[in-house]
Amino acid sequence: MIFSEKVSDLFNAQLSEWDLAGINYNQFKKVKTRKLDFGDFEILVQFNPERMRSSAAKVDTKSIEARPCFLCSKNRPSQQRGVTFEKDLTVLVNPFPIFTRHLTIPSEQHIDQRILQNFGKMLSLAESIPDYLIFYNGPQCGASAPDHFHFQAGNRGFLPIEADFSGGMFTKLLAVNSGVEIWHWSDYLRAIVTLKGSDSKKLFRVFSHFYDNFFAFQPDEPEPMLNILAYSNPDAWIIHIIPRKLHRPVQFYKEGFEQILLSPASVDLGGVIITPREEDFYKISVSDVKDIFSQVCISENEIAGFFNELI
Ligand SMILES: [Zn+2]
Repeated sequence: MIFSEKVSDLFNAQLSEWDLAGINYNQFKKVKTRKLDFGDFEILVQFNPERMRSSAAKVDTKSIEARPCFLCSKNRPSQQRGVTFEKDLTVLVNPFPIFTRHLTIPSEQHIDQRILQNFGKMLSLAESIPDYLIFYNGPQCGASAPDHFHFQAGNRGFLPIEADFSGGMFTKLLAVNSGVEIWHWSDYLRAIVTLKGSDSKKLFRVFSHFYDNFFAFQPDEPEPMLNILAYSNPDAWIIHIIPRKLHRPVQFYKEGFEQILLSPASVDLGGVIITPREEDFYKISVSDVKDIFSQVCISENEIAGFFNELI
């Protein structure tokens, strides 16, 4: 059986044999969504109270050390089963969905959330389950378990960033470096660079070049702050790289009406904002999103500099 069929079987089986997953995916069918209109593109807002534990997760070292790790196999619910991918990753059904199909893919080992040495695995995973988009949230960029390495994945065709990339309205080809296309986004509120190519080693080389350049600007972080979304088409991988400069916006820490409990991560920056509180779902406006994205992302002018020698 090919790997994507194993994942599909796991998904269907878990929804019928694991009560929590069955109930939550059923509830998810009724999830409330709003559209925010930015002129040339849209951003969706999803009211999802089950995501409170993730959005408001305390990720400081003290809090992390005080809790049992929910991604370690010994602490997982007994009804949660997984399928192994390339020996050290396990594909699990995420019981608190944002997508119609939502996976969590932790390492077998309790090791820190880091991308550089796992970038190749992200590509092979994207190739093995091509109907999913794989995403990575850095340790201070939305990962609720920064101490346990993991990817997540959601069904393709849901995040607006996919169609906005293929539509070509916001992107310009900056360069082609050893067969890897480097695309720059503009007028899209978030600085993004997209790599497209069919050779995983060359993609890694371009990524690691960017990684080193960007890391030099954030030497006090455990790794440069990043959200990454990757998927595989028959002809090439497409990898959206979103560098960050802040974990959570000021609105997160405000009180009363000024508070918006939004902790941006790959899904939000991919165009679906998750609000765990109903009041934020109704209240959040186009100008709030512009403000929040400008706080947490670097500027569109800055990003190309991190690819300088490749352009
Ligand atoms: Zn763990």
